[in-house]
Amino acid sequence: MSYIAVDIGATFIRVACGDESGLKRKVSEETDKAGGPEGVSHQIIGMISELEENPVAIGIGSIGPIDYTRGMITNTPNYPFKEIPITEPLKTVFNVPIKIVNDCSAGVLGEHVFGAGQDTENLFYVTMSTGLGGGAIVDGHLLMGKDGNAVEIGHLTIYPHSRILCGCGCPGHWEAFSGGKNIPYYTRTLLRGTKWRSSLLSDLCGGNSKAITVKMIFDAAKQGDDHAFMVVEEIGKVNAIGFADIVNAYDPELITVGGSIALNNPEFILMPIEHYMARHVINRLPRIMITPLGEDVVLYGAMALAMGAS
Ligand SMILES: [Zn+2]
Repeated sequence: MSYIAVDIGATFIRVACGDESGLKRKVSEETDKAGGPEGVSHQIIGMISELEENPVAIGIGSIGPIDYTRGMITNTPNYPFKEIPITEPLKTVFNVPIKIVNDCSAGVLGEHVFGAGQDTENLFYVTMSTGLGGGAIVDGHLLMGKDGNAVEIGHLTIYPHSRILCGCGCPGHWEAFSGGKNIPYYTRTLLRGTKWRSSLLSDLCGGNSKAITVKMIFDAAKQGDDHAFMVVEEIGKVNAIGFADIVNAYDPELITVGGSIALNNPEFILMPIEHYMARHVINRLPRIMITPLGEDVVLYGAMALAMGAS
């Protein structure tokens, strides 16, 4: 008998079984979006059954927005369904305690119970991948909000007069500059009017700015390309403002950073933040580091949630 952790991502669902000592076995599948809103929970039920027939409890970290009191995902831009019921169908099959939080809340919980934040009561987790998200533990409490979406930091306004729109439609949100989905567009605006066509970045994208990917930008910067480095630096300045807002609002002792963009480019993400954030901060600066839990941080949080740690 073991606990079950579920990580519902934009593209993949991951499930693990485990206990206080950590994750034991994991399975991962691409989300089946063809089965309608109920197809998602059916898929999760199948994945759980593969690992453990009699789970003790189930914890879930999910892409948002969520409605945690009703146990569902609501209006997510990543799935073509308005409401996706999660906890109710799982309860019907397994009849055990089930809790759901958004993925970044799970991230900070995972960090607190299994990762670098075990000794601090004031902890923040930031994910930097397709989008940006955050989770906060303040004075030992996981911040939830009325629906479970308390720390939507990707939609903090960084530049209110910017012409760059976020995926949500608002101008100048943090994610509009630094979210993986939006970095290529922001990059094109930064390169306009420069001599970037003689750069390595131009070679990598075949001279077609619309073909630029996040990986090309960081790869070129790593090889010393000036234009790519300028882009990384500008993204870093935006991130520094976002991190400063976090420090001013939540006063954490430690901020850990995960998500594919940060995990793949730790120095290029952390260095500009540390260099530029102090000028925007009034509170004492926290430690900032890449999460030691890597891409499993949400699963660890879901495991902590299943164990009743929230
Ligand atoms: Zn937004």
